[in-house]
Amino acid sequence: MFLLAQLQLIIIGDSGVGKTSFMDRFVDSSQADFRQSFNPTVGIDFKVKNILVDDKRVKLQIWDTAGQEKFNSITTAYYRSARGAIIMYDVTRPQTFKSIEKWYQLMSDHGRGDVEVALVGNKCDLNSDKKVDSKQGENTATELGCHFYESSAKDNLNIENVFMGLVRNILVNM
Ligand code: GDP
Ligand code: MG
Repeated sequence: MFLLAQLQLIIIGDSGVGKTSFMDRFVDSSQADFRQSFNPTVGIDFKVKNILVDDKRVKLQIWDTAGQEKFNSITTAYYRSARGAIIMYDVTRPQTFKSIEKWYQLMSDHGRGDVEVALVGNKCDLNSDKKVDSKQGENTATELGCHFYESSAKDNLNIENVFMGLVRNILVNM
């Protein structure tokens, strides 16, 4: 089987929403244990994963960014090469949902015109602490013209769907 495409994706969103956990789950799903401790990402980091999408082999390079403001000048330099972006918030922290506008704006200012975006509300396992309705997420995704998902890096929920959905959308528009 030949390698069809090499795609770069980027994950953005406030600090602590679960970006690194989400990427780690996807890249190394054999990793049985979920890291509870929080080590904020410094600047930017990436991982590579080869996937099979509808018989097509795709090499994904996934950029995991730091959510803190002070790293924005480093991370925005990587937006340009990303064909797909995951904008993530934490369903238990409304402030991280409010920040979506800011992240979307940064992406629009620094990213490609044809970037495919997925909006992801993470930590949906914390159902009793949920403070951002699914409906709010859906509405925002509709406004931004992107797909919406709720996920749990902890329970390994919807992670594969987010990446596969994003890659499929990129491939059909290539
Ligand atoms: P990042 O700053 O966006 O990269 O966030 P991290 O991936 O470092 O996660 C921040 C904290 O949230 C860590 O303590 C993780 O264990 C926790 N976390 C990440 N994803 C989930 C999830 O889906 N559910 C729960 N309950 N905790 C999560
Ligand atoms: Mg991180």
